Amino acid sequence: MYDLRPRRSWEDDDAVMFRDSLRRFLAAEAVPRDAQWRENKSVDRDFWLAAGALGFLCPSLPQAYGGSGTSFAFEAVIAEELGFVGITSVGHGVHSPIAAHYLLRYGTPAQCLQWLPRMASGELLGALAMTEPGGGSDLQAIRTSARLEDGHYVINGAKTFITNGHNADLIVLAVKTDPAQGAKGVSMLVVETKDLPGFRRGRNLNKIGMHGSDTAELFFDEVRVPAGNLLGEEGQGFVQMMESLPQERIYIALTGQSMMERAVEITAEYVRERHAFKQSLMDFQNTRFQLAECLTMARVTRAFVDQCVDQHIRGELSAADASMAKYWTTDRQCEVMDKCLQLHGGSGYMDEYLIARMYADSRIQRIYGGTNEIMKELIARSLR
Ligand SMILES: Cc1cc2nc3c(=O)[nH]c(=O)nc-3n(C[C@H](O)[C@H](O)[C@H](O)COP(=O)(O)OP(=O)(O)OC[C@H]3O[C@@H](n4cnc5c(N)ncnc54)[C@H](O)[C@@H]3O)c2cc1C
Repeated sequence: MYDLRPRRSWEDDDAVMFRDSLRRFLAAEAVPRDAQWRENKSVDRDFWLAAGALGFLCPSLPQAYGGSGTSFAFEAVIAEELGFVGITSVGHGVHSPIAAHYLLRYGTPAQCLQWLPRMASGELLGALAMTEPGGGSDLQAIRTSARLEDGHYVINGAKTFITNGHNADLIVLAVKTDPAQGAKGVSMLVVETKDLPGFRRGRNLNKIGMHGSDTAELFFDEVRVPAGNLLGEEGQGFVQMMESLPQERIYIALTGQSMMERAVEITAEYVRERHAFKQSLMDFQNTRFQLAECLTMARVTRAFVDQCVDQHIRGELSAADASMAKYWTTDRQCEVMDKCLQLHGGSGYMDEYLIARMYADSRIQRIYGGTNEIMKELIARSLR
């Protein structure tokens, strides 16, 4: 039988051990609970706390800030393992490699100590809020404002489609500190949501997939946060977002690529067992060709994603390559899900089948983290 998941080029022995224990943890604590999370549109906090206690949150933070001091490889293992078991409910990708890493990268040591240990333990759940009702692709045009007044930033505006937004205790928030400016007017603020006057969450939004992942609207009405919650300096927010998005994009690519591998695995199992016209579905040439195409897409994509992870660990991943990985992988992911669902026949449309859930969960991958059209803009920019 073909080895669908050979060892990664960037995976050392510690990462292999981490993967093994994470796999056992997810099998025991996530897979059996995912149906309930999807029903509740939310992951229970005790899962986050249990993951934190075992070192499965924010492993790449320094030990001084509650992490394990590993490279991005451990975050990559988490992306892959969650993707392979089809758990999209747990917004780890937003919590750790995104929100926590904004603090790590742009926060002062005091800011890091204030928030990161509690993010690593699962006590504080993180979100990143950039997108607004008026638009998400054009981040220079955001309208949520923050004006400095008596040692505080006073925030007004609204965000939407925010992953972890319904439960987040800490939001890395993109604001305009100078509304007269475009990109140069954007800054990033850290907002702790507990008992925060003027802060309101809207509905936990209904989606076509990723039902266990909470996605919320957030409203800010004269919300005051200490001036010391600014990350870096005023006006650096847009650059900070552009510097941070490649890590988000490679995480999305890893999720998509591992979901493809799982789709191939479960579909091969299904067509071996299922019979029509007195033969197994696998005996039809069409089935074998479809699966061969899916396996090839998963395998070829794996090679490029691995190359990008290697580059990222060395600090050499370019914005163009991260965009290629995100766009290419997620487009292939949706193709693979569609073919694999088709091979399941009507069962593939039933929610109790993993392929149905992975099909619905995959579609957003081409949209968030920057749409695939925006990825092509970024890639083309590297040729100018
Ligand atoms: C489930 C989910 C989770 C999300 N999580 C988060 C989150 O945690 N934090 C966050 O900040 N955001 C989040 N988002 C928002 C997501 O990042 C945005 O939806 C995305 O960036 C697109 O923005 P938009 O929806 O405003 O679409 P628009 O920007 O209005 O784009 C609409 C269409 O126009 C195309 N388009 C726009 N500009 C161009 C261009 N220059 N050239 C060609 N085509 C273009 C787009 O590709 C798209 O097809 C999430 C969204 C969803 C649905």
